Amino acid sequence: MDDPQSRTFDVLVLGSGVAGLSLALHLAGECAVAVLTKRGLVDGNTALAQGGIAAVLDLDRDSADKHIQDTLVAGAGLCRPGIVELVVGGGARAIAELRARGVDFDADGQGLHLTREGGHSERRVAHRADRTGAAIADALAEQVRSHPNIAVFEHHQAVDLITRARLARGTGRGTPGARGDRVLGVYALDIAAGRVEAFSATVVCLATGGAGKTYLYTTNPDVATGDGVAMAWRAGARIANMEFFQFHPTCLYHPQAKNFLISEALRGEGGVLRNRRGEAFMPRYDPRKDLAPRDIVARAIDRELKASGDDSVFLDMTHLPAAFVEAHFPTIHARCLELGIDMRKAPIPVVPAAHYQCGGVQVNKDAETSLFGLLAIGEVACSGLHGANRLASNSLLEAVVYARRAADTALRILAERGSADALRVPEWDTGSAGDPDEQVVVTQSWDEIRRLMWNYVGIVRTSRRLLRAQRRIELIADEVREDWWRFYLTPDLIELRNISAVALLIVESALARQESRGLHWSLDYPDTDDVNWLRDTVTVRAGA
Ligand SMILES: Cc1cc2nc3c(=O)[nH]c(=O)nc-3n(C[C@H](O)[C@H](O)[C@H](O)COP(=O)(O)OP(=O)(O)OC[C@H]3O[C@@H](n4cnc5c(N)ncnc54)[C@H](O)[C@@H]3O)c2cc1C
Repeated sequence: MDDPQSRTFDVLVLGSGVAGLSLALHLAGECAVAVLTKRGLVDGNTALAQGGIAAVLDLDRDSADKHIQDTLVAGAGLCRPGIVELVVGGGARAIAELRARGVDFDADGQGLHLTREGGHSERRVAHRADRTGAAIADALAEQVRSHPNIAVFEHHQAVDLITRARLARGTGRGTPGARGDRVLGVYALDIAAGRVEAFSATVVCLATGGAGKTYLYTTNPDVATGDGVAMAWRAGARIANMEFFQFHPTCLYHPQAKNFLISEALRGEGGVLRNRRGEAFMPRYDPRKDLAPRDIVARAIDRELKASGDDSVFLDMTHLPAAFVEAHFPTIHARCLELGIDMRKAPIPVVPAAHYQCGGVQVNKDAETSLFGLLAIGEVACSGLHGANRLASNSLLEAVVYARRAADTALRILAERGSADALRVPEWDTGSAGDPDEQVVVTQSWDEIRRLMWNYVGIVRTSRRLLRAQRRIELIADEVREDWWRFYLTPDLIELRNISAVALLIVESALARQESRGLHWSLDYPDTDDVNWLRDTVTVRAGA
């Protein structure tokens, strides 16, 4: 596509998970909207979600107050209560919206079948068997593809935000994120053409998902490389609470299983964690036993593994009726069977893995970041809903609720500024870049960062390990900066640059927080310090 006019839109949505696709559908009838996504439309965390989406639907047993309370307890003092109320209050509407878009949730005689997950005091998780995310992703993708007003750019990887400050660089007037700065568009790599293209828009919304690939073991797919956080940080936006990375306690442990999650819903339906000796160990760690929040379960497993030297613990479903297991967990059952594990008869080997980024680009209740014209929704954003720890199944809910809010905000900005406000932006200048000669340098650096993050910045931390990780990752980030303008961009180089930036943000935030709270657990600061640390950890790029 060579005509720059054809790359000018009112709103650019970066990412095609539940957040990005929902936003695009809200806006489609109202303005010119484009979705850029770096692989296919359904490649993201959304499509992998198994458990479901939390919402208060059974008003006989459940209430908004209970859901709010559960969220606040999980968030360990750092949730923003107004945001919790807002998101929880949007639950029923979010489910109705998804159903209207074709998501077929499981129902029983009384209405939707609701399951229960760790940290929830009631059954309130609407689901489609154990493939809820795929059902949502498929339904939304189908609607987006068939909508005449949405321009879809698959295999387009956003590289950097174009801002007024960036364009003014060299004139001495360009301070990223400063007052008066604003977003004007994005540079994106057309992966098939191997060319960077400039897209301009009045509003850009980050919906680029999480950053699980920063860690060696993760439940996230390959696209989850923290691109949105890294781009926003480079553009001078405020980034918050990156130290709070949730580790899912139960990822399938098998040499041939790459990133396969064993849903928390299994424990919700009676599954029991056991160590190799067969002991159900969770009662030793928490009175809620197997239904304790994820951080507690992940740390308990970490302790069991470190103490025993074992490779995994086990999730036991064998005491439940075989027909129940088959009907409720068909995907997990089928995947386990493929690998020779019959979960009806034998316990499933599991380990913790990096799962969900609770921090991110800081946004207000209207999805606005600190940079004018830049919105953020879904996992890339830090709205204040999750605080120091996410309650299971609240993230899909947050993404749907915030997509609607972002749509309202985008339309308000457009009404104030007008569509013509989308300025022409300069094309990407490749300068004297050449072909990258040694791909192995990129691969090696990726592996190093992911292993460092796993070993030194994982479930339990110490300041010494964090500092070690910081020194080593800074070295890699320096090397990436040196290579950046020397070579034509490749998807891997772009992701390596982003992963190194996000890893450093996680380490920096973890070093800053001198206490243990929620998902951040430090052996040097084992206590929770409400006097000094009942606040977000906010980072802004130096010089911004
Ligand atoms: C295995 C698993 C199970 C889960 N289960 C649940 C659950 O049961 N309930 C729940 O509430 N949550 C669950 N979660 C979390 C939830 O799925 C995610 O938080 C949510 O789907 C995030 O949606 P999103 O739209 O923000 O991001 P994603 O769905 O991850 O989408 C991000 C999109 O951005 C694109 N992208 C990334 N970088 C770029 C770039 N540079 N340029 C262009 N495009 C880019 C990606 O390709 C992708 O399309 C689970 C997550 C995982 C991994």
